[in-house]
Amino acid sequence: MSTLHPPNPTTIPPLSPSDPHPVNSTPPPPLRIAIIGFDNYDHFLAKTLLSQGHTLLAHSLSDHSSSASLLNVSFFTTDLHELCQRHPDIILLSTSIQTTENILKTLPFHLLHPNTLFVDVLPVKVFAKTLLLQYLPQHFNILCTHPMFGPPQQSVDSRGPRFVYDKVRIIGGDGVSRCESFLGVFEREGCEMVEMSCADHDRYAAGSQFLTHTVGRVLEMMNLETTPINTRGYEALLGLVENTRGDSFDLYYELFVYNNNSLEMLEKLGCAFESLRKELFGSLHGVVSKNLFEGETHKETRNGMIRSKDDADFNYGYNTARWLKIGIVGFGNFGQFLAKTMVKQGHTVLAYSRTDYTDAASKLGVVFYSDVDDLFEEDPEVILLCTSILSTEKVLKSLPFQRLKRGTLFVDVLSVKEFPRNAFLRVLPQDFDILCTHPMFGPESGKNGWNGLSFVFDKVRIGMDDRRRTSRCDSFLDIFASEGCSMVEMSCAEHDRYAAGSQFITHTVGRVLEKLSLESTPIDTKGYETLLKLVESTAGDSFDLYYGLFLYNPNAMEQFERFGSALESLKKQLFGRLHCLLHKQLFGNDEESRIMLETTGYAKATYGEKSKDFDKAHAIYPPKQSDITGKVIIYTLVGLCILLCLFISIGFYVIAKPLKASLTSVALRNLKYNDTSSSSWPYFNATLAMKIRIDNPNFGFFEFPTSKGDIMYNGRVVGEIKVSGQRVDSYSAIRLEVRTEVSYRGNHVWLKNDIKRGLIILKIEAKLRGEVHLLALNKGSVNLKCLMHLNLIDEVIQRLWCK
Ligand code: NAP
Repeated sequence: MSTLHPPNPTTIPPLSPSDPHPVNSTPPPPLRIAIIGFDNYDHFLAKTLLSQGHTLLAHSLSDHSSSASLLNVSFFTTDLHELCQRHPDIILLSTSIQTTENILKTLPFHLLHPNTLFVDVLPVKVFAKTLLLQYLPQHFNILCTHPMFGPPQQSVDSRGPRFVYDKVRIIGGDGVSRCESFLGVFEREGCEMVEMSCADHDRYAAGSQFLTHTVGRVLEMMNLETTPINTRGYEALLGLVENTRGDSFDLYYELFVYNNNSLEMLEKLGCAFESLRKELFGSLHGVVSKNLFEGETHKETRNGMIRSKDDADFNYGYNTARWLKIGIVGFGNFGQFLAKTMVKQGHTVLAYSRTDYTDAASKLGVVFYSDVDDLFEEDPEVILLCTSILSTEKVLKSLPFQRLKRGTLFVDVLSVKEFPRNAFLRVLPQDFDILCTHPMFGPESGKNGWNGLSFVFDKVRIGMDDRRRTSRCDSFLDIFASEGCSMVEMSCAEHDRYAAGSQFITHTVGRVLEKLSLESTPIDTKGYETLLKLVESTAGDSFDLYYGLFLYNPNAMEQFERFGSALESLKKQLFGRLHCLLHKQLFGNDEESRIMLETTGYAKATYGEKSKDFDKAHAIYPPKQSDITGKVIIYTLVGLCILLCLFISIGFYVIAKPLKASLTSVALRNLKYNDTSSSSWPYFNATLAMKIRIDNPNFGFFEFPTSKGDIMYNGRVVGEIKVSGQRVDSYSAIRLEVRTEVSYRGNHVWLKNDIKRGLIILKIEAKLRGEVHLLALNKGSVNLKCLMHLNLIDEVIQRLWCK
């Protein structure tokens, strides 16, 4: 069975044969379609094709004969000959990326009619097109497609399902009509038909499909959990994780390996995260150095100077009506957003801010004061603090509390809660009430009303002895409850714990993605649209807000680092697997690959360092002391025996130990290669200046005559190395310098692709046969077996491994 389902289920709306779209035109003559790689996804496609009167044949490695016969599809198990002898009009390749090439190699083309139309449904299109052009004889037609929909049980999209296609090679009247009939199947089902080149598809898909999968996987690795105070953005992220979880790592890995643009996208994502980290840590550094070197500049608070004007007034003097007089301090983005609804509900709103917002305030029906003393003189019952998190303490300390009535209610809306709670308790006069709140929405997510959005609050200090004070607090909360908010009472500490997981990570993802300047594409997936929306909603918030979340939520740093580690470990997983594949291909030996991987450090990432079970077993059954003593005695005896043997062994002087050769460095000179867009054959040539080290661990010296070796590229010899004869003294090493030319030219798609990718992988093999001079003369040889990545873009040897 295929390891990869051709379409990407995260993105896919259903195409339901039971709910056909209106048929606009009369169906064309029925086609005989052979589906190769017939699995669950194809069962669903088959139903659609059959419902439009086409005849179906199917082949798959697994036995799907019973489901095929239920659908009235002729099923062929192992033999593709039998299927081809039925002369299908269309071969629909629904195989995984890895198996498609094998199928193409084994198909008996001679049994098929000329003009047979080959259609693939792989999610990576340049790769599929290249394969089909490489293997199919000239007279076969090629249509590359990506149906961006799945079976009806998968996620639903409000848009019509999309069908992306590229008519790669359609020749002759027959070919054209067959191709149109096939496309007509999907058009009649109501698909949005998108014709675009395979290269364009992959470029867009790297942005949309691969990036969406990557973000989903990174978040999945962070084990995000739903909280009682989810924001819309966070819920969208949880949805993304849920969708990605349904897809195999194989699918993700193949999107990475077979789409040339994915690597770039992955690197960009890493860079964006790093740049955000620099921004955050840079600001943090600024704060720390200010504190260390400048000290606190303004310690005096106006609050301490004069007591509250109604000190002796036991009647607190506020009205108990439902309509409140609210003074907003900090009339920026969020303050204005809240004021709009408060005014709409009939409350009197006054505002003060550092910046002059007189015009904006009058449009909203708010009275603006540029002096906070004037605002406080108006006896507001509620002071609503809407300043940035960073400026809160400074603003709070500068407020003239003495102008307010005793028992005024102070409310904040900061996105972190423990910090303002502690600041209020520390700075505010004892007889003021304190309500800490966090509307879990903003101007973007709450622009169409607040219904269903969470509002968190903590009644930190409300004078319970006076009913009027409690009812004033309730009236304030009712502003949000009456708009349909979901009211969540929880402690400030609890809020911060949940919010670091949800809110901070949502902002982080939004800000990282914002740096990628993502754009909508003609083939946006639903998941990708979620990401675009997230960017839109976080882009509207100030960096101060994000930085405040980071700085004042004690859990934020850990979350930030976890995101970074998850991204890194995902990258390691991808690269580890890629290397495994490369080594297998180059050295054809799993064990060798493993050893090589271990030396490059990738094995650790791919296979893990030590089995967890091993650690667990050790934790549960620690070895007994007596066992340990017994073992020490045995090991000592064994050690002595070995030592004795070693001393006695004249083999030490007789038998040669293996010699070692390796490349210590390679410098690249005179690199030339052609632009793959030019019409001439692709080529590269360069001079390699290599430093070779030969180690002789023997008692006697090693001598070898002038020897030669090959430099290979993709199984072809592209250069020769000549190592002039040398003598290596006992227990020593020599270093040699060898220069050689490498060059290759050929009209191959793989060469073109490698040049386009900017990466040529060269393999070096040389055997230096000679003699090790011990008591008995030993024939000795040393192998030089290395692999290097030649980076065409940076003109360097990027990686070098030697066995
Ligand atoms: P913000 O950048 O966090 O805060 C802007 C406000 O802070 C403006 O009123 C600004 O006054 C004031 N301010 C900034 N630096 C100041 C300073 N040094 N001295 C005095 N005032 C200063 O953006 P915001 O979106 O408006 O958020 C306001 C508060 O609401 C924040 O605490 C935030 O955590 C919270 N909140 C925001 C959202 C949201 O979605 N935006 C949601 C829930 C809660 P001037 O404009 O006069 O300079």
